[in-house]
Amino acid sequence: MKPFRYERASSIASACASAAGPAAKFVAGGTNLVDLMKLQIETPARLVDIGLLPLAEIEETADGGLRVGALVTNSALAADLRVRRRYPLLSRAILAGASTQLRNKATTGGNLLQRTRCPYFYDTTKPCNKRVPGSGCAALAGLNRMNAVLGVTDDCIAAHPSDMAVAMTVLDAQVETIAPGGATRTIPIDALYRAPGNTPHIETVLARGELIRSVLLPPPPPGRQVYRKVRDRASFAFALVSVAAIVAREGERVRAARVAFGGLSYKPWRSAEAEAALAGAAVTRASFDAAGVAALKDARGYGHNDFKIPLARRTLRATLADAAGIV
Ligand code: SF4
Repeated sequence: MKPFRYERASSIASACASAAGPAAKFVAGGTNLVDLMKLQIETPARLVDIGLLPLAEIEETADGGLRVGALVTNSALAADLRVRRRYPLLSRAILAGASTQLRNKATTGGNLLQRTRCPYFYDTTKPCNKRVPGSGCAALAGLNRMNAVLGVTDDCIAAHPSDMAVAMTVLDAQVETIAPGGATRTIPIDALYRAPGNTPHIETVLARGELIRSVLLPPPPPGRQVYRKVRDRASFAFALVSVAAIVAREGERVRAARVAFGGLSYKPWRSAEAEAALAGAAVTRASFDAAGVAALKDARGYGHNDFKIPLARRTLRATLADAAGIV
């Protein structure tokens, strides 16, 4: 392992100031970063430990939502009674991810910022534009079964691995940050992630030293919430495809629906096309199939992951049927 400087931050301001320099990284649970450091994929010169900062609370907001501190562990968030009652799909999504041990350490902020699990990102003998910009993408002609089919380019077809972020995306969550110098901003979660373009190593819009303080969950929208994850084994596996859906019915029609996919893109993929197709549609499997066709119309497979496109359509249909109560 390469030597690095370790600092334990005693305040948010000092954490941001310490991480403002080059090659600095925040660390909290460390469930992804430490593995990457062992493999020398991440080689920070300075590690700023934010684990003792006062960011581990879940608070009510004036509008009936919740503010989730960045250091709230995945286990604590999934178990919180307010989350289970108001945002059941968020609780289910978190519990569908990783293992109990990892969820006990992993934090809300870290979960959002975890890196892809593309196998070539972790294999330092292979070209990878995300790891070494300009080196190429081994996944294009390689084993790309887990890779993305929407919103990516030939420079990088990596998929975002988080379940939690998919649920937060369908809930219209917002990310609250603070930068060195104290400037704050609120970023819609959908705008947190940068499209890979030809710079896939730049994954978010966060500036150097900008710290995620919390995630704002607005009051839950009307409708039944469902999170469904399809994976190779029943636990401790990343999504091949996942769907977060919220469906509000008016008689035999869909009054409003929200849809987000996991496992298909560089970010949790909110589908405006599916939502438009569902608004006012009959509550039938045929309508849900049409929404799937709309959602995946721009999808492109790369060989081993071609199956994700029909799988996503079928998973959407099943999830919507469950959310609409016609299972
Ligand atoms: Fe690297 Fe992205 Fe290609 Fe995977 S898909 S090898 S992460 S450039």
